[in-house]
Amino acid sequence: MAKTLELIPIWEWGFFTLPRPMTIAGPCSAESLEQVLETARGLSERGIHVFRAGIWKPRTHPGSFEGIGTPGLKWLRQVKEETGMKVCTEVASEKHVYECLKYGIDMVWVGARTSANPFLMQEIADALRDTDIPVLVKNPVNPDLGLWIGALERLNQAGVRKLGVIHRGFSTSEPIAYRNAPGWQIAIELRTRYPQLPFFADPSHMGGDRKYLLEISQKAMDLGLEGLMLESHCSPDCALSDAKQQLTPADLLTLLESLQIREKDSGDKEYREGIDQLRAQIDILDENLLYLLHSRMDVSKKIGTYKREHNVAILQTGRWDALLAAMKEKGAQYGLSEQFVEAVFNSIHEESVRVQNEVLSK
Ligand code: PEP
Ligand code: MN
Repeated sequence: MAKTLELIPIWEWGFFTLPRPMTIAGPCSAESLEQVLETARGLSERGIHVFRAGIWKPRTHPGSFEGIGTPGLKWLRQVKEETGMKVCTEVASEKHVYECLKYGIDMVWVGARTSANPFLMQEIADALRDTDIPVLVKNPVNPDLGLWIGALERLNQAGVRKLGVIHRGFSTSEPIAYRNAPGWQIAIELRTRYPQLPFFADPSHMGGDRKYLLEISQKAMDLGLEGLMLESHCSPDCALSDAKQQLTPADLLTLLESLQIREKDSGDKEYREGIDQLRAQIDILDENLLYLLHSRMDVSKKIGTYKREHNVAILQTGRWDALLAAMKEKGAQYGLSEQFVEAVFNSIHEESVRVQNEVLSK
């Protein structure tokens, strides 16, 4: 059972305003004072209030631009003073946290390579103890929900209550169009477990190319996520890192204006009546499902008794394989995916074997 997280609602952080998406934007890396200021001005003029820029960059190969380091924190402070924007950067160690606190950085995020490492997560959490700055945790590079939740728990146990997540997709060796595999089901699972946890998507790192940014951003909004983190650079093609995926501030605004935002709920009377009717249908069907499952388990019990009387083993895998194959075929005729049918029937089978065992051990 997942532990609960103690959270301060995002609208109490004083960073973001509605309507969605709550947007964090800025360059992949801070490269020079001019580049940082020009990008920040362009974004601020277009209504973006939270600025990102990587100061320490986790690069795959040594020798690539690994970030400007501590001097860049002064540039972020200048952005803050000049534009009034909140500023944030990535931290990957206790030293990074202390430097950020020293220079008045407003919020930090933990990158995908760091959230996968419990030692570093603990170190960062300890360094953030007794501070008040919000922390966003990107998903670990590998699709491991437990590891992601563990990172959040470490921070929360250290007293970080202004906590949120950023979904940026997962490393994969499969040939896919995007830079990282979306794995939306993991994001949905996390959202379901912690509905109050502020949730951002990072279309830039998920897509890896500016041509995918709109479709990914739209998907994130359709899933009801609160916000987006998007990379933006005053001259994207000249960027020292992630050039292909960055947008000018003007293009970023065009993207945001192209999004269709569907509200999570609506007070509209007609909508309410429609949704209530559909939900009533679902409730009836769910009850029927329970009744059918109960009836099926009753038959399973009878089979258990029958097998016991005839001294026959409970598990006949041949019979199960045939049943599952038949159900998948029938399911397909009803438009149900093979994966779904398999998951449902495996679960039913597991319970059926348990029920029969119970009969046998009486
Ligand atoms: C970044 O946001 O600049 C970054 C390095 O992202 P990620 O940790 O998702 O790779
Ligand atoms: Mn980047």
